[in-house]
Amino acid sequence: MTRELSKDYLDQLVADVHALAADDPNVWGAPASYIPELAHIDPAQFAISVALEDGMILSAGDCDVPFSIQSISKVFTLSIALGRVGDTLWRRVGREPSGNPFDSVMKLEQEKGKPRNPFINAGAIVTTDALLSGHAPKEALSEIIHFVRAAAEDDDIHINKTVAASEKATGYRNLALAHYLRSYGNLDNEPDFTLGVYYHQCAIEMTTVQLARAGRFLASLNDVPKLIAPAKVRSLNALMMTCGQYDGSGEFAFRVGLPSKSGVGGGLLVIVPHRGSIAIWSPGLDSHGNSLMGTYAAERLSRDLGWGVF
Ligand code: GLN
Repeated sequence: MTRELSKDYLDQLVADVHALAADDPNVWGAPASYIPELAHIDPAQFAISVALEDGMILSAGDCDVPFSIQSISKVFTLSIALGRVGDTLWRRVGREPSGNPFDSVMKLEQEKGKPRNPFINAGAIVTTDALLSGHAPKEALSEIIHFVRAAAEDDDIHINKTVAASEKATGYRNLALAHYLRSYGNLDNEPDFTLGVYYHQCAIEMTTVQLARAGRFLASLNDVPKLIAPAKVRSLNALMMTCGQYDGSGEFAFRVGLPSKSGVGGGLLVIVPHRGSIAIWSPGLDSHGNSLMGTYAAERLSRDLGWGVF
């Protein structure tokens, strides 16, 4: 039997997550350890916010704690890049799931420097490079943060520079990817410049309330800022469904049945077309780098409310 969404429903979901963890603390998973600033975040945190068609936002748990959105930023940069360079982006980036980890270099050699999709790191680095061309890194970053603030209709959204510096200090794989792309002529700017913007976009911090609000344009809700053309909303949702969770995308589609983007900060942005936008955060990750309890909650919510698109 399908249930109705309510504040009580979300409070119960949060209580159930904590009850599961009380039985077995391993259910939280472990925070990303390759970015030192994220490694020491307490995994025992959970938040959920749902922004609805009528403008209402329902939240439960740690929904006022800002977290590092990391790869969820790729949804925003792709939105801006598609607006800027249009379909020419697809000459540089593919639209197929990779089946490999998000930071893998393997297919990049086989496919001659064209990343499989814009959500794996290589594809996101090319997308950011497209945004950067013709601009100083500061201008590109300012465009990204303004887009996110406009989407959320909230100016109190900022970049955590310590997290960006921490990722830069240990970002050897992204450095390798950027140099590899450049060697194939698929990076217009110097790797350090493009990566500088990329690390800062990943270090944007938002609460689940802000992220749920920022996702409304992808759910085509009424009365929200029209940031991109409807045809692009369709493309973005398709890519989120097929590639949004890296090599965990098929499993996520199977379990949840909704377009979504994850980040190694433990955030999840889930889109329910024409109904709402859901942000979930729990910093412990599974082996693909996706939030463990976040995925659990997304699956339960989509089943309980009958919100999957299939
Ligand atoms: N900034 C992270 C990285 O490049 C983003 C990865 C992610 O969230 N999956 O590794």
